[in-house]
Amino acid sequence: MTTLRNFINGEFADPRGGHDFNDLCPATGEVLARVPDSRADDIEDAVAAASSAFNAWSRTPAAERSSILLRIADGIESHAEELARLESDDSGKAVSIARTLDIPRAVLNFRFFATAILHEASECHMVDGRALNYTLRQPVGVAGLISPWNLPLYLLTWKVAPALAAGNTVVAKPSELTPLTANRLAEIAVDAGLPPGVLNIVHGRGEHAGEALTCHPNVPLISFTGGTATGAKVARSAAPLFKKVSLELGGKNPNLVFADANLDEAIPGSVRAAFSNQGELCLCGSRIFVERSICDAFVERFIEATRMLVVGDPREESTHIGALISEPHLRKVESYIELAEREGGTIATGGGHPSGLPERVRHGWFLEPTVITGLAPSCRVLQEEIFGPVVTITPFDDENEAVAMANGTRYGLSASIWTRDLERAHRVAAAIDVGTVWVNTWLLRDLRVPFGGTRDSGVGREGGRYSLEFFTESKNICIKLNIKN
Ligand code: NAP
Repeated sequence: MTTLRNFINGEFADPRGGHDFNDLCPATGEVLARVPDSRADDIEDAVAAASSAFNAWSRTPAAERSSILLRIADGIESHAEELARLESDDSGKAVSIARTLDIPRAVLNFRFFATAILHEASECHMVDGRALNYTLRQPVGVAGLISPWNLPLYLLTWKVAPALAAGNTVVAKPSELTPLTANRLAEIAVDAGLPPGVLNIVHGRGEHAGEALTCHPNVPLISFTGGTATGAKVARSAAPLFKKVSLELGGKNPNLVFADANLDEAIPGSVRAAFSNQGELCLCGSRIFVERSICDAFVERFIEATRMLVVGDPREESTHIGALISEPHLRKVESYIELAEREGGTIATGGGHPSGLPERVRHGWFLEPTVITGLAPSCRVLQEEIFGPVVTITPFDDENEAVAMANGTRYGLSASIWTRDLERAHRVAAAIDVGTVWVNTWLLRDLRVPFGGTRDSGVGREGGRYSLEFFTESKNICIKLNIKN
């Protein structure tokens, strides 16, 4: 068993209070590590280190910052297999998904922003020969970064890379449930030559370490990814201090299948959208709406494909669906299946603990992929984020009804539309109130595009220049001219 320590000012340190807690493996329940239960004084130390490092790092030439970040990317890549196994053990996800999604994306996050800063340009506004305005984009200061457990290294680096690339220093608090790869990132950053204090990682619980970070007066910027209720708390802490805040929150994403869709693509695509990463992705398409004329056929084929998914030991190559993150989370997801039955729904497949699990993981927090039919769009099961391998399928009669159903929750993160009618695709995409719409695909990501949600799915956009804008402050400089033509 490992004992983790905080990473502050380039060194690994025990939490000041000496408190810690267990990090559990979701597939087996075994203790993987003892984790610092950091408090406000640890955050204080980390913010002090980040504040001292800011002056030098923010003035380090972009090309130099870029080379260090590229070396971090190389370091992650050269430890990719080890990191994939750590991520899988820590989060319960299948090692195949950690290997193909999480870790490559962490590498890409660093490479993308390390090179993006080499191509930055700023704006210039001329005022009729009388004055010239130019815009400087300057780093904000110490960035407070808070990330969730479902894509631990992927989402942590999605924030750390642009924050550092733009010249900020960082205090990051990863999820208490999945601290292992964040700890390795600190070691990789040291090997890559990142100066002390530029990146600080403080482990601990949201209500202690997380809140201390969001309330800290010397942290002018918070980038948070997590649940909507936590996002509201973060917003409350940050607002009186006028921090820049980006909130990437929950989703209850609609997946619309029209009768003219190519079902050979729409069905596997919808199954992937439903159950990837055990349904523990903010972008999962958990509300499936299907045009009534094809709904019965769709349900039959969707269930058939769902039953082909292998729920099993996350370490096995053949596993599609691993364990849910924790026992309380499993119980929460199961409670929605019970609620679905009380609300009058039918459990068309799944709903229970999978049988035939290998001995090593027999007592892990697993759940069969579950399909529920027969519920109205207003039911709680279709309104609240479940964040597990549970989807509903509901018929619709026409395009207007499909759009109304898609927009019928307080969430607005993403949507998928499956149709061969290009005009309809454009019309429906424009009418759905979400941050991202995929047409005839799902989770096809391009790091340049704006990413974020509307309404209860969050505030702000990250990705490409949107991240670099968020992690910098723009300043206008106006110079009087006297140019006569
Ligand atoms: P969470 O419970 O909201 O936690 C997210 C992070 O916030 C964790 O590091 C957590 O710490 C910390 N935290 C908790 N309370 C806090 C507080 N009062 N102040 C500051 N930080 C606090 O979310 P989760 O269960 O980890 O993640 C699942 C949620 O994230 C889902 O709702 C999912 O949709 C959402 N998500 C959204 C996106 C997106 O891009 N929109 C991406 C991925 C996930 P501890 O866990 O260590 O206590």
